[in-house]
Amino acid sequence: MAKSDKSIHNICLASIKRYTGNLTKQKCSRVGFILITMLNKKMSAYNLLISEVSCLNCYRQYPGRIQFKFGSTAYLQYHIGDKIQWGVNDTGTSGLNKVKVYGIVETDKCPLCNSNNIVEDFDIFINNDIILNVKEMENVECYLKEGNSEYVVLER
Ligand SMILES: [Zn+2]
Repeated sequence: MAKSDKSIHNICLASIKRYTGNLTKQKCSRVGFILITMLNKKMSAYNLLISEVSCLNCYRQYPGRIQFKFGSTAYLQYHIGDKIQWGVNDTGTSGLNKVKVYGIVETDKCPLCNSNNIVEDFDIFINNDIILNVKEMENVECYLKEGNSEYVVLER
């Protein structure tokens, strides 16, 4: 399963869990809407952020390849401090003050100890199109609440 499929899968699961408490007809259609949105997104390209990530098993760091969709989505490779490019197959809007972007690591296992006990989901923080840092994801739900699975605008 491609990693972008996996992020879709994770968001779908989170949204279904959120609604399974009391499933009304409206809530079912909301879940359906989210699923269709996710599947449509799956068909577009993504970018990569190359950044050190820590393994939860051996506690060592390795260069993670974190997929995300913001700016031109065209398999571009970025590092912390790089400026987001625009103009081709754009996701989002350029020049936003603060944005948090959904990132998901490409590999399922730590390349150093082969453990699958790794952080897979990340928040990538982008201010004025500059990639500031990347952190373990705090909450996947906020990406749903904004009505866009790829990024959340924190400050316009
Ligand atoms: Zn490890």
